[in-house]
Amino acid sequence: MLKAITGTKDILPTEMQKWNCLEKLVKEIFTSFNYKEIRTPIFEETALFARSIGEETDIVGKEMYTFLDKGQTSLTLKPEMTASVVRAFIEHSLSKHQPLNKLFYISPMFRQEKPQAGRLRQFHQFGGEALGSTSPLLDAEIIIIVYKILFKLGLKDLAVKLNSLGIPSSRENYKNLLRDFLNNSKDKLSQDSRKRLDQNILRIFDSKLESDQEILKDAPFLIDFIDEESKADFEIVKTLLNQSNIPFEIDPKLVRGLDYYTKTTFEIVSGKVGSQSALCGGGRYDLLVEQLGGEPTPGVGFAAGMERILLACENEKVLDLPHEKINLYIVKIDKNLSEKVFELAINLRDNYQIPLKENEKYQNGVISLNIPFKVEFDYLDRSVKSQMRVANNLNTNFVLFVGGEEYNTGKVILKNMSTGEQFPIAIEKCKDEIYNQFLSSYSDP
Ligand code: AMP
Repeated sequence: MLKAITGTKDILPTEMQKWNCLEKLVKEIFTSFNYKEIRTPIFEETALFARSIGEETDIVGKEMYTFLDKGQTSLTLKPEMTASVVRAFIEHSLSKHQPLNKLFYISPMFRQEKPQAGRLRQFHQFGGEALGSTSPLLDAEIIIIVYKILFKLGLKDLAVKLNSLGIPSSRENYKNLLRDFLNNSKDKLSQDSRKRLDQNILRIFDSKLESDQEILKDAPFLIDFIDEESKADFEIVKTLLNQSNIPFEIDPKLVRGLDYYTKTTFEIVSGKVGSQSALCGGGRYDLLVEQLGGEPTPGVGFAAGMERILLACENEKVLDLPHEKINLYIVKIDKNLSEKVFELAINLRDNYQIPLKENEKYQNGVISLNIPFKVEFDYLDRSVKSQMRVANNLNTNFVLFVGGEEYNTGKVILKNMSTGEQFPIAIEKCKDEIYNQFLSSYSDP
């Protein structure tokens, strides 16, 4: 049997309601902060990720899905979005139109990691990037946006971890100090950490090994060596988070794996998703645009893992959505009325919509689609009894019986499934009548 590739997952119809709900919430919250959606291709030239994320990171070193196309160009399925957003920002000169670009995305990502709960090879992230300002207000805004999304989902077991990496010059001094400190215990460090000592020393803090962590216990922390400007910005971020009632803790070991981060860095972890506990991570990257060939442009952003967030929701028993309803199920009493029922269903679906409430009319800057009037009937020539069973399972608001004696006298019977009331209506007026009955009973879409 052919199966989905290890580390990829089908999102089945039963799970889609939660995905749609999460995506809607993401769009709503970003829109309320005036972020605009951006979509970029699923693959890019490999050089983009190598140059931005850094050759020595796990992502570039071990995890990318890279292949040669027929023209012998090395392409990579995107492992993260910031590099692609920045590439598009430079390519389309977005800063010419406005000095500050606030962008958000929802997209699949690809990393060849060892699959486990909460760690996939194709997964989905939403995230935001604000390009064009060094203001720490944006650092705080980015954290508030993602916290708000998680909080609105109902997640409670959250910890916001915050650190500042300073600017590169202060970091370089610190790296030398840390190297001197770790060289004293070099022999006791794990092989991976020893490699990082020369290549990406800050990443040693990410080591999961207790022996490494034991050595790091007395290591100097970067936060104590950052420059004055970074310190002042960090104070502002902390004040703004306090003002917005976002609980956070300073984690001096939070260094994150990517080379392009400067100043603020943060992560939100859930106590409820096991070893893969990070729901999102982000920070400031004031040097990336320049590094990729653009005009020097500061930036700050984050990415959040949607599978992990939904896993946390499941574990905290939140985002428990009611079963989706349909509005009308047409029960065919006579099999030879199939064509009539088919036409009636088409007509009802075409001509009637569930009215939007005033505050639902404009979403994400576009007129949102009307909510369709959901109509279903039997295609399998089932008995009336089994059609009723289906109608009940579909959680329908109304059932329409077509056929039998009433039909011969020009009538059909409409049943309100929540009150049990049923009454005959004339066939020629039945569409408006069904819809009016529905509207008078309708409270919630
Ligand atoms: P990163 O881009 O590595 O900072 O990751 C940001 C977020 O994406 C993480 O906090 C996770 O929630 C999620 N994430 C990263 N890698 C994976 C993966 N392999 N599978 C599922 N989620 C992931």
